[in-house]
Amino acid sequence: MPDWLALYYDEPLELTHGEGRHVWDAEGRRYLDFFGGILTTMTAHALPEVTRAISEQAGRILHTSTLYLDRHMVELAERVATLSGIPDARVFFTTSGTEANDAALLLATTHRGSNQVLAMRNSYHGRSFSSVGITGNSAWSPTSLSPLQTLYVHGGVRGRGPWADLSDADFTAACVADLTDMLGQTHGNVAALIAEPVQGVGGFTAPPDGLYAAFKEVLDRHGILWITDEVQTGWGRTGDHFWGWQAHAAAGPPDILTFAKGIGNGMSVGGVVARAEVMNCLGANSISTFGGSPVTMAAGCANLSYLLEHDLQGNARRVGGLLIQRLRAIAAGLPVVREVRGRGLMIGVELAGPDGAPSPRAASLALEHAREAGLLIGKGGREADTLRIAPPLSLTVAEAEEGAELLEGALRRVQSTIG
Ligand code: PLP
Repeated sequence: MPDWLALYYDEPLELTHGEGRHVWDAEGRRYLDFFGGILTTMTAHALPEVTRAISEQAGRILHTSTLYLDRHMVELAERVATLSGIPDARVFFTTSGTEANDAALLLATTHRGSNQVLAMRNSYHGRSFSSVGITGNSAWSPTSLSPLQTLYVHGGVRGRGPWADLSDADFTAACVADLTDMLGQTHGNVAALIAEPVQGVGGFTAPPDGLYAAFKEVLDRHGILWITDEVQTGWGRTGDHFWGWQAHAAAGPPDILTFAKGIGNGMSVGGVVARAEVMNCLGANSISTFGGSPVTMAAGCANLSYLLEHDLQGNARRVGGLLIQRLRAIAAGLPVVREVRGRGLMIGVELAGPDGAPSPRAASLALEHAREAGLLIGKGGREADTLRIAPPLSLTVAEAEEGAELLEGALRRVQSTIG
């Protein structure tokens, strides 16, 4: 395999089809899908409502471009604008989360006339030149070159250093003081702060509720825009809230919101939401060949309807709550598990070696053993030491139990290998 191709597993896994929360490989083996194609299969695999919407639209017209209107594009834009919580909101569709963040950075820097941005340490925002340039962990970025001048802010992850054991209130106060101090020392304007409400690739780490509200009070004093990257945390994934930013709502909504992944249930839908005066900065850049393509918009509308009608956010809260409790009980007897954390159906299981140090090897072994047992999970984290669990939001209690048992078996094997 070429060095640049990052596939999970020593032996590549070829998937051929899926149904509900399960997928099958080319040899006919069935797996419980606890990663949902990196949080992208939001409702379920092969959901009839979405499949029907796609094939009906494909039979009418495949492509229009953003030069023309398409009724599903208008419907989805109106629904997302209303759901976003941003006043006077406008929506621009893209084909990925990367492109959505690129558009958000373009909007914020143009609106503010500055190329300085704040990003969080340990953050991930995509693969384009501007988004890798602001990524807060060099492991996920091939370059330190960037069209943007980036300053990195504390708060997305506590890490293992002196901030680790602070209470939520003290941690928040320390992060706000650090941000205030940094802004006091910075030349010129800062355009925006971009942040994931719960860090995704970073290992499903959530700051204390309210941290970004406290940040927003500081940002507002400087006229700095708040971009919330909801690519992983949107659509009820975190259980208690529809968007991750709503755990930080006290100082009001964000200025710009980006989304992608789950809304298309696997179709390429991303987008950016902003107030009209900010969105107007797009100008002629609002032409996109594939953004908002009719088939993907039809999928998005059907998928969103299913999500809301079946209260999958509530399901994420209930089933995610049970799963996290169950995993914590399993972890109590396994020293290899350092921490089980998360919100809703976004659960991180951080692993450590016998000396307590981060163990990427334990995480890789766990993935392999889980695959052998018939369970697909993800990994990530600052030190690549965290298992990421993010099944479709329709996960049943029985499936949560089945997955927990399979994972327990895999973790026991890891424990006996690494001691
Ligand atoms: N933002 C976040 C928080 C992500 O997790 C990702 C992808 O994992 C992206 C942006 C980039 O999205 P995409 O892979 O659709 O370009």
